[in-house]
Amino acid sequence: MPGEPGRRDAGCIFCKIAGGEIPTAPVSRSARVIAIEDFNPQAPTHLLVLPVEHYPTLGDLSDAGDATLLGELFDTATQLGRERGGSGGFRIVINTGTQGGQTVGHLHLHVLTGRPMTWPPG
Ligand code: AMP
Ligand code: ZN
Repeated sequence: MPGEPGRRDAGCIFCKIAGGEIPTAPVSRSARVIAIEDFNPQAPTHLLVLPVEHYPTLGDLSDAGDATLLGELFDTATQLGRERGGSGGFRIVINTGTQGGQTVGHLHLHVLTGRPMTWPPG
């Protein structure tokens, strides 16, 4: 299913996944939010929850003022974390910008569970 018209970056790998150009079996999908398996998992469960539309960073979505989309992203990540993590819990991470460790410039939430997490992160 193609993404909503609007925000899209032709060179963006996650836009290609969300738009179906790169075939991917999503873990879950709604009209505006898709969850996929991370291809380099850092925990037994490592999912990525992303908007179908292209927002480069968390700040860009905040600037756009779409609190409904922000809420759906967090709800989706939380529900998947609960489903996969059970009573053991889970971690949600949003790397933002270079100093924040972001490597793919399309907003995404990491959902990690299945092993004990440490703090502080690297
Ligand atoms: P970040 O460093 O927070 O931007 O996270 C980017 C994440 O996307 C990394 O954990 C990568 O392993 C993951 N990733 C990059 N390309 C793909 C892809 N084509 N399919 C699934 N996961 C990907
Ligand atoms: Zn994108």
